[in-house]
Amino acid sequence: MIIHLKKSTDPDIVKKITDFYKAIKFERNESFVLVTSFKHKTLEERFQPYVAEQFVFDSDIQLASIDYLNKKRTVRLGNDFIGGDTRATAMITGPCSVESEEQIEASAALLKSLGIKYLRAGSFKPRTSPYTFQGLGIDGLKLLAKMREKYGFAIVTEVRDSSHVEEVIAYADVVQIGAKAMYDQGILRKCAKANNTVLLKRGFGSSLQEFVQAAEFILSGGNENVVLCERGIRTFETKTRFTLDLCGVAYLKEYTNLPVILDPSHAMGHAYGVPDLARACMAMGVDGLLIETHPEPSKAQSDAGQQLNHDQYKTLYESLQGLAGALNIKMI
Ligand code: PEP
Ligand code: MN
Repeated sequence: MIIHLKKSTDPDIVKKITDFYKAIKFERNESFVLVTSFKHKTLEERFQPYVAEQFVFDSDIQLASIDYLNKKRTVRLGNDFIGGDTRATAMITGPCSVESEEQIEASAALLKSLGIKYLRAGSFKPRTSPYTFQGLGIDGLKLLAKMREKYGFAIVTEVRDSSHVEEVIAYADVVQIGAKAMYDQGILRKCAKANNTVLLKRGFGSSLQEFVQAAEFILSGGNENVVLCERGIRTFETKTRFTLDLCGVAYLKEYTNLPVILDPSHAMGHAYGVPDLARACMAMGVDGLLIETHPEPSKAQSDAGQQLNHDQYKTLYESLQGLAGALNIKMI
């Protein structure tokens, strides 16, 4: 149950109601929002005078539920907004990892030439093997900050574990929580207290319920700038890296109020399929596309097989522009 308390409610009463329901409390527009387990369905009569509005749910998808707001949230992404009635699709791109100044400069030049605003690259990489490239760490964050300074991009970069979450929050405009970190309570709770927009990726073995409940950890901490990202789930199929769950995306669009971004690169795992998938995603109507590009994909230190080279990315970008025009979508 979500309870909107009246602005004037005395702090002692706020505490009494919060304690009674063992609710999570956060502040919005100078008043308090309490969220209890969905198992609470009714309000004690003695608390009613302090309550402005109350919402009841049938699962712990609450703050993220479409039934709560009856509309899509508008979420800040750098200097722009996605979701709501913006009809904006954010183009988020860059290499899988920041590898060197020369490499990230080359990526920056591509973005600049196309007018793209969101530079995405990882510097704390959650690799499956400890013996592969793990990312440049803080040095990579500094290179990304340099690109922001020089070109004005908004920086999207990921947090791998809670040991460096403060640093990523400080350097990034948008903090990405990767598929493997989706359940990390330390990361979720710290991002819940940050001002950054959070791009939360779906774990590749996570149900939609678990995915959206992970977003609830961030929302209920008071950070309402959350974006969901579908990046493929694991199925019996081995010819592609993962399976992009477009049915799941349809569900998220129908039942949640959060913007949804799609990542065809990690889902496909092979560059050849990414352009077709990206166009399919845009046709479906999504709030953003996360696509990996590298100046020299064969030399990439991570995810080499799935990254588009710059010419391939440019060709894709132009075809998306045509599609966006036909669909009355604003590419940002
Ligand atoms: C990435 O975005 O580079 C990444 C590691 O993705 P995921 O967490 O979806 O595997
Ligand atoms: Mn990657």
